[in-house]
Amino acid sequence: MRVEVVAVGTELLLGQIADTNSQWLGEQLAANGIASHYHQHVGDNHERMVQVFRTALARSDALIVCGGLGPTQDDITRAALAEVMNVDLVRDEAIVTVIESMFSSRSRTMPQNNLLQADVPHGASIISQRRGTAPGLICPLGNKVIYAAPGVPYEMTEMFERAILPDLLERERAAGNSSVIKSRVLKTWGASESGLAEALGERFDELGEHGAMTIAFLASGIEGIKVRLTARGSDDAHALELLASEELIARRIITEKLGDIIFATDEDTMEDAVATRLSEAGLSLALAESLTGGLISSRLVNVVGASTWYRGAVVSYSSQVKYDLLSVPEGPVVSIEAAVAMASGVRRALGADVGLSVTGVAGPDPQDGHEPGTVFVGLDIRGVTEHASLRLPGDRPRVRAYSAISALDVLRRALDRSL
Ligand code: ATP
Ligand code: MG
Repeated sequence: MRVEVVAVGTELLLGQIADTNSQWLGEQLAANGIASHYHQHVGDNHERMVQVFRTALARSDALIVCGGLGPTQDDITRAALAEVMNVDLVRDEAIVTVIESMFSSRSRTMPQNNLLQADVPHGASIISQRRGTAPGLICPLGNKVIYAAPGVPYEMTEMFERAILPDLLERERAAGNSSVIKSRVLKTWGASESGLAEALGERFDELGEHGAMTIAFLASGIEGIKVRLTARGSDDAHALELLASEELIARRIITEKLGDIIFATDEDTMEDAVATRLSEAGLSLALAESLTGGLISSRLVNVVGASTWYRGAVVSYSSQVKYDLLSVPEGPVVSIEAAVAMASGVRRALGADVGLSVTGVAGPDPQDGHEPGTVFVGLDIRGVTEHASLRLPGDRPRVRAYSAISALDVLRRALDRSL
């Protein structure tokens, strides 16, 4: 079954509000194994709404329309639906009574406009209103259907879960093609989207576009590139089984071709990845941050229970602090030597097993003969030191954010090698 989402509202077209309804509906449909190939936006205009509904109905089995069910002149979804169904709008006295009592229970008189919300296309059934005044609609058109829900997310989501989704699933069952979709996200750091696509290209082609498994790439800016695996199975267990075997294959291909770039799965973050490794190994961590100015520390304390392995940080922004507190030898502070000295210095100063440091040029101006984006990471794990030299792209905020996640990634990889 193919389900299409139509979000109604001129404010969506003007960019005044973001269409979170379609996003949420897309997520819900996918999670329930219901195919959704088109999302449309349309303004509060009768002719265009009718046209959009007809277009959608021609290529899909069901439509979810959200918005335009309110009591004002620009809320015209009902009238457009009636036209598409080729029926009249009929005032439903039961709805009138419900709306009237909603107002009287709050000691308010009902504006006449609210009566419009009691108009129902002939033949449609009603999704009762629990959170607002506008009821939703289920409009049958032959063996197809249009659902209409209010635009207010709080009202729409409740109606979707209570009435629309069960109706859709029932239709899927009746058509004999119910399935379940499960997905998993592999988070990578250090590869480009095209590099990943190339590495997985062969597998991508093998799976094809319409099979039970799909692979997608999502660039998520400063948090790296995500690889999303999606499996369609006959039930939960089947979908999870497909997903697990595809995950093994994808992990093997990525690791063979691009190295140890997968740092986490699903909702886990880089700081979670580091935290797990440190606490499993019983190691404590101290940081010396220069251009990141506390960003890394702030990320680490996102992790619940960080105090068991995190000692703290020295934000050694000025050179003098690096010399005085961290025993960095006097001289240029944007260098591999300075980075390593910072890591060892902070490890000693804070009494930790591991010292991690970052120093570099955030920009926009060069420093010590280095271009913006030049960053050195130092690491000292119980006296064994290593370092990484990075060239990071972007403006000052991006260089700083990239530095933070890159430094954590250096630590993650080093811990994997040494443990
Ligand atoms: P109401 O009965 O409250 O008037 P309605 O069905 O008429 O509901 P709209 O008037 O289209 O819905 O939208 C009401 C409000 O809901 C909008 O001002 C906006 O804040 C929110 N909204 C509408 N559509 C969306 C959407 N697609 N995504 C997120 N929010 C939305
Ligand atoms: Mg409205």
